[in-house]
Order: sequence, then structure tokens, then C-alpha cells
Amino acid sequence: MYTIGIDFGATFVKMGLVDDFGKVYFRRKIETVLSASRASLIDAIICNIRDIIEISGKSVSGIGIGVPGPVDSKKGVVHYFPNIKGWEGVRLKSILEKKLGLRVELDNDVNAMTLGEFVFGAGKNCNNLVCLTLGTGVGGGIIIDGKLYRGGSMCAGEIGHMPINETGPKCNCGGIACLERYIGNKYILERAKKTFGNNVTLEALTSLAKFGNKKAITIWSDVAQKLSVALTEVINLLNPDKIVIGGGVGKAGELILSPLRKQIKVRAMKDQAVHVKIIAAKLGADAGIIGASLLLKT
Ligand SMILES: [Zn+2]
Repeated sequence: MYTIGIDFGATFVKMGLVDDFGKVYFRRKIETVLSASRASLIDAIICNIRDIIEISGKSVSGIGIGVPGPVDSKKGVVHYFPNIKGWEGVRLKSILEKKLGLRVELDNDVNAMTLGEFVFGAGKNCNNLVCLTLGTGVGGGIIIDGKLYRGGSMCAGEIGHMPINETGPKCNCGGIACLERYIGNKYILERAKKTFGNNVTLEALTSLAKFGNKKAITIWSDVAQKLSVALTEVINLLNPDKIVIGGGVGKAGELILSPLRKQIKVRAMKDQAVHVKIIAAKLGADAGIIGASLLLKT
């Protein structure tokens, strides 16, 4: 059986046909910002879906879509997108279902990625998983007893907005000293610029650290330390089997993961700390498409 997965990002909308084994075919990519309006972007998405179905010649059982903001996944309604204007209260599920005559399921992008890693990626073969995306924002998805945990108003998993200090900088969410306020890519970069100048990038910071630059290594291990405070709370609370870490900042890989594992051993309760495996995400750029396609199976 084939489904279509849509990874709706603030920069690109990526989509593709996905088979039962998580393989992606007939990829399409639309620039989100190029569309003059919400309606024209929805039209472009529909047009591409029809194109994929026609060219592939496959019968498609439905469409899963992961979007960059909070949603009511039961009703299929977008609450809003923090980085794209004009999407407040859009009934995206019913709009697409009416136009395409196919079942559509909607969730936020981190939940979609979490499902992808859980079924086909680094989170395979476990029942309790926490998935983290490190990038502009810090997002989290939670699987408990093999099922995505969405919470009372479907906003669970906001690990990036767990405070790691009693006092500290104010966050965009309204909170104080949120994890994201310390390890969102903008803040890591701000710190790196103080040491390496204004032209430094996160990729350069990773390369410097890999070549043994002590100051660069320290910046990454400080990121790991901040992360370890929030993850200790997650680990003590949920006792996950695995924590999977992805996203752009996550590409620093072992520069973060290795000091993070050490910190968790020191900070978290013994049984939970020994049990949890902290590993890098596996699905890379396709995680969003594959994960979105799995929304039809939850
Ligand atoms: Zn916050």
C-alpha cells in the first residue's frame, strides 16, 4: 500500500510517495515563501499530489502531513504557524480531503518525525521513545507504550520550553530560562561569534571541534550540558528506552552526544540512566516525509 507524506516546513514543502517499508519515491519540493498566498500554496500542494499519483500509477490510500506549528490533529485544524503568516485556524485536513477525495491526517512536524524514527529509524525496536529536534527551535516528540503521546490539548513534548534555571533570559513562548533560549541555533551561534568572529557558522564550529579546537569543543560540550539538565528531567519522568536526537544542530553528532551521555550518567537516577540509549536520528532529510506518511497508521 502506498501513501503520500508531506513535510510542510517554513522554507520548503517536501512530499513523496511512501511504501510500506518507508521508502520514498517521486519526491516533490515547493518553496513555501514563493506562494503569494495561503490559497495558492494549498493549490500548489494539491497539484503536486495529483501529479505524484498520476505519474506513479499507484493507488494511494491517503495523505499524511506534518506542519510547522501546533495543530488539533483530531479535527485536522492548524492553530497557527509561528513562522508563516495567515494560517490561523485553517481546516487543512478537510480542505485537502474535499479536493482530493482521499483520507488526510495532520500533525505537527516533530510528532511526524518522531513516528518516522520510531518505525523506520533510530527508534526502532523499542516501546518508549523521546525524539528531539535541535535547530532554530528545540522540539520534542514522545512515544509511550508504542503510541504517540499528544497530551490533553495535543501540545505535549515541548522539551525546548522546559526551564533549565529558576531565573534567566525570557523566551518567545513567554517562559523564563527555557532550554531553547540557550541551545536554539541562534544562541549557539551568538556565543560562537564572540570567540570566532562574525563569519562563523555552526558547520564551521563543528569542523573546528572535530579538528580538536578546544574552544569549539567547549561550546558543544556546554550545549550538551544544558541539554542534559532538561533531559535528566525527561528521563527521570518518562524512563524512555531511547532518546533520538536530530535536526540541524544535531548534526554536531558525537560532539554533543558523547558529553551528553556522560552528563546523564551523573545527573539522572541510576536505573533510568543505565537503561536509556541516547543516539543520533537516522532518517535525515526524509524523516519528515516518512513520518508524515505514518500518521495514517496511528
Ligand atoms: Zn520557551
